[in-house]
Amino acid sequence: MEDMLAQRVKQIDASGIRKVFALAAKLKDPVNFSIGQPDFNVPDDIKKAAIAAIEKNQNKYSQTAGDPRLLRTIAEQVRREYGWEKPKVLVTSGVSGALLLTFLSLINPGDEVIIPDPYFVIYKHIIRLIGGKCVFIDSYPDFKLPVEQIAQAVNDKTKLIILNSPANPTGAVYSEQAVKAIAQIAAEKDILVMSDEIYDQFCYDAPCASIGRYYDKTLLLKGFSKAYSMTGWRIGYVAGQEAVGPVIEEMTKIQQYTFVCAPTPFQQAAITALDCDMTDYVTAYKKKRDMVYSGLKDKFEITRPGGAFYAFVKAPGWVQTATEFVEKAIANNVLIIPGNVFSERDTHFRISYATTDEKIAEGIDILCKLADG
Ligand code: PMP
Repeated sequence: MEDMLAQRVKQIDASGIRKVFALAAKLKDPVNFSIGQPDFNVPDDIKKAAIAAIEKNQNKYSQTAGDPRLLRTIAEQVRREYGWEKPKVLVTSGVSGALLLTFLSLINPGDEVIIPDPYFVIYKHIIRLIGGKCVFIDSYPDFKLPVEQIAQAVNDKTKLIILNSPANPTGAVYSEQAVKAIAQIAAEKDILVMSDEIYDQFCYDAPCASIGRYYDKTLLLKGFSKAYSMTGWRIGYVAGQEAVGPVIEEMTKIQQYTFVCAPTPFQQAAITALDCDMTDYVTAYKKKRDMVYSGLKDKFEITRPGGAFYAFVKAPGWVQTATEFVEKAIANNVLIIPGNVFSERDTHFRISYATTDEKIAEGIDILCKLADG
């Protein structure tokens, strides 16, 4: 069967994550620091809106670009938050759907995409699947936006720069000054920017700076999965100004022949979600961030994350690779993900603290005991 498979699937290596899940399957009631989704439930009002939509028979296809009322609501919000006059919006099947459509619409074989490393896994694999070249820019040890190195990496083949703030897997939040600098670099060389802001609500210390405010060739990707804990409902969107209108049009065309539309009842629920105040949930996550940082900082090299619900922690010196430490942690009932899943390096591990305070305390305790070997 191997020889039947398309060459492109060989570009994808999922072995790192699979290894973790295989080891995890054997555990009973582990401390699960591996999951990339919130531990709270979808708020009741949003659930009710989904149920009402199904009962009102809003179960058929929507327009390709999305339900007109949802499109209007998103456009208004984007206009308010980013100061864009006439935002163009496409509702997608999660931000993952928007990522695939972005890359399919923009990248020719050989085109280069600049990506700060560590990075969210999907970027690398989809870009490689369609023949693009990822140019990773190391952002260790503090995961600040590596502006200088990005400027140096730009060349004639550069098509796109990817920003993700707050970031998965590091929890880093980029400064306004840094995103402005990238806007300037991109404008000088006429390069597009894709800004994945799926975690924008989880920003703990300052408002989240967006390049979308400073650069009109930005594709802004936002979602509902994390903010409202509706990861299984598959709703996200891409928005942009006139300058990227043609890209969003092409994305819509490809959506027509692939996803067709985002799930219709959940598009209705998303309208309700946009009115939902999630401040209490975010405050609770900020406390979890503080617990993780203060619990680990004396035993591990860790940069204080400013957002999302992740920390990216350096494995202790007594192991050769972070994977080795992850195996040890899993053997001690703590599930974490090795950094090489999100990076060209295998020196760190990702903690997702989207779990109960009790489990966080238990996990910190076990990890700290393992830190000395
Ligand atoms: N971008 C980032 C940075 C993410 O962490 C995720 C989910 N893990 C996604 C995009 C995709 O989210 P979804 O498809 O559920 O909207």
